[in-house]
Order: sequence, then C-alpha cells, then structure tokens
Amino acid sequence: MKKSKTVTILGATGSVGQSTLDLILRTPDKFAVEALTAHSDVEGLAKAARATSAKFAVIGDPSRFDDLKDALSGTGIEVGAGEDAVIEAALRNADWTMAAIVGCAGLMPVMAALEGGKTLAFANKEALVSAGSLMIDAATRSGATLLPVDSEHNAIFQCLDQSAPKGVHRIVLTASGGPFRTTPLEEMARATPAQAVAHPNWSMGAKISVDSATMMNKGLELIEAHHLFAMPADRLDVVIHPQSVVHSMVEYADGSVLAQLGPADMRVPIAHTLAWPERMDTPCERLDLAAVGRLDFMAPDYLRFPALKLAREVMIAGGPAPAIMNAANEAAVAAFLAGTIAFGDIATVVARVLDRYVPADPISLADVLAIDSEARRVASALMESVVA
Ligand code: NDP
Ligand code: MG
Repeated sequence: MKKSKTVTILGATGSVGQSTLDLILRTPDKFAVEALTAHSDVEGLAKAARATSAKFAVIGDPSRFDDLKDALSGTGIEVGAGEDAVIEAALRNADWTMAAIVGCAGLMPVMAALEGGKTLAFANKEALVSAGSLMIDAATRSGATLLPVDSEHNAIFQCLDQSAPKGVHRIVLTASGGPFRTTPLEEMARATPAQAVAHPNWSMGAKISVDSATMMNKGLELIEAHHLFAMPADRLDVVIHPQSVVHSMVEYADGSVLAQLGPADMRVPIAHTLAWPERMDTPCERLDLAAVGRLDFMAPDYLRFPALKLAREVMIAGGPAPAIMNAANEAAVAAFLAGTIAFGDIATVVARVLDRYVPADPISLADVLAIDSEARRVASALMESVVA
C-alpha cells in the first residue's frame, strides 16, 4: 500500500467510524487523517481528532461548536460546525472517504463526495435506498468509486467476477435473523429496546441493530444491492444463516456459487475497502471452521419479519416508495428506541405511511429530501394518533 493514504471519516464517532479509526491507528504511518465528523458527540470527536492529528474536525450540531473549539484549543486542528461544514469535510482532498453517518442525514454529504469524484467507502445504506439511481448516476458522471462496506455487499463485491459480469445469475444475501429469530411472536411484539439492540453476532449502532431485529435491515440491503450491482429484483434473494460466517454469495450461470467467509467483525470489510485494491493486515480473530462446526441455512419467515416482505415489494415498486419506506422506518425506530411505540408497531407504521402518502416519482435530490421529510411528518402524525 502507498505510504500515507489520506482519509476522511464521516460519522467518526459511530460504530463503523470507530472500527475504521481502530484500523487506522494501528498503522499510523500508512494513513493521514484529513477530516473527521460527528453529530453531537464532541468528546468522542475531539478524542479521535487528537489521536489521529486530523486536520479538520466537524460537529454537525451547530450548538456544539463552542464546545468543540474548547475541546481542541491549542491543537491547531481546524474546527467546523453545521451541515455545510459536514459537506465541506466530504469534499476535502482525501484519497479515501468513509461514509458512515447513520440515516438519510448522510445523503447530502454522500452526494457531495460522489459529485466530487471521490473514492467512497460506503456504509450509509439509508442514503442509497432513498436516492437510488440519482446517486449511482452521480457516481457514474463524476467517475467516483463506490466501495461497499456493508458486510454482505462487501462480500458480493469480493465474489463478483468483474471479467464476466453477464455470467451472474443471482445474488444471495445472508442474514443472521437477529435476536428474535426463534422468540415466540407475542413476546417479540412486546420486545424492549434493550432486547432489540442485543444482536447475537454483530456489535453495531442502535438504529441498525433494531433494523436487524425487524429484518428491515435486510430489506434495505436488498435495495442497496439492487443499486450497487445493477441487479433486478427477481435475481436477489435472502437466506437466513444464523452463524454469520458466510457473508453473502454470487451464483453464476454455470451453477457455480462463490461465497465470502470471515469473522463477524466489521473491521474485515472496512479493511478491504481501506486497502483496496490491495490487502492489509487486521487484528481480527481468524475464522476457525472446525470450531464453528456447522453452518445452517433456512428461508426467511415473512410472517415473523413483515418488514422484509414490505421492503421487497418496495424494491419492485421503485419510484418514491424506497425513500418513503426508509424515512418512515427511521421515524418508527427512533420512536421505538424512545419508548413511544412497541417493537411490533414498527413495520405497521411503515406500511401505513406507504399506503397514505403517494407522491410523484422523485427526479432530483430536492424531490428525495422533500419526500423524506413529508414521510417523517406522516409517520409522526400516525404514531401520535395511535398513542393518543
Ligand atoms: P452509529 O449510530 O453508531 O453512528 C452514527 C454516526 O453518524 C455517528 O458518528 C453520529 O454522530 C453520526 N450522525 C448521526 N446523526 C447525524 C446527523 N444528523 N448528521 C451528521 N452525522 C450524524 O451508526 P453505525 O456506525 O452503526 O452505522 C453507520 C451507518 O453504517 C448506517 O447507515 C448503518 O446502516 C451502516 N452500517 C453499519 C454497520 C455496523 O456494524 N454498525 C454494518 C453495516 C452498515 P454522534 O456520535 O455525534 O451522534
Ligand atoms: Mg449488513
């Protein structure tokens, strides 16, 4: 790997951001940090900026600007605050930019980086689900490189035979089934936030952990794969694989299936994108298949996981539906984590918002943002009327 690759991390204080920093801090001579961003975690951001001697640290919430200035005073690190400063960080001159903001809040900085022709390590699936082909078109126009970080999409990226893309017959995403794969359904409907975020295999942020428990995460990932790999809906499948050892598979026309295996540690796919097109060492535990013993696979249960079925229908419908589904889900998950709605209500809220709100197809980023905000408003009104 070339000495001193310059890197920027959008969402540096989150789960993916911290895993990225862990890798970078282990080989500081290979990386120079250009910019780091967070939303409100001033302490975490300042700590990361000091540890990496970042050039630019940005806090998304403008009311925390003075706190960040104080926390970094005397370091010479440039500081910024607000949405425009996050976009500025995304546009800074870096060889590699990690998109690890959670939710559609990451859409504008991601689009800025793509329009700027950057090499983007891409974790922020909600942005791609909402903006879909607008985002892929922007990347194509500017010549930007999208490196998938999500473990399934990174696995597919590693298994794709770039020399014979037409030979791909089907893509199969694996899913652990989350914490409620075998929980009695009535118990699952009443699950608490603490139970829902306790993923059996992966350590992740709260929002994606809840999405894994409803399997909306796999639904978002179907749509993510649809766009990243230009794969029609009828050639995308999901299989439950509770051990999370096989991270996804590509089936070819001749019947060959290529899979990528590894430990359930996000540092593996992140390292793949960080060193790409080369490879780098990681401190991750090595996969010991004899110790794992067996690998199980089963079809997903749509009765247990209505969000997955909904997401498949939304992928097929296209138009504004993915942006509406994503926004309604973000609102419903936030309400569930705040204790306002029950676990079992999340998928119901998303389905009802999709029924009630039927706008025209988005043709610009402004349209996507308008649909996102209206879908959140409809979801909030619906949840208030349910709770009232
Ligand atoms: P976290 O919740 O752990 O971290 C989110 C990051 O985004 C934090 O740095 C947070 O800052 C920042 N952020 C939150 N809201 C805003 C906002 N409005 N504007 C700017 N920045 C904001 O999330 P994860 O790391 O778990 O996930 C990040 C993304 O990666 C998600 O899209 C997720 O789906 C995807 N992903 C995550 C995986 C994982 O293992 N965690 C695996 C595969 C994909 P602050 O800390 O200050 O709030
Ligand atoms: Mg994933």
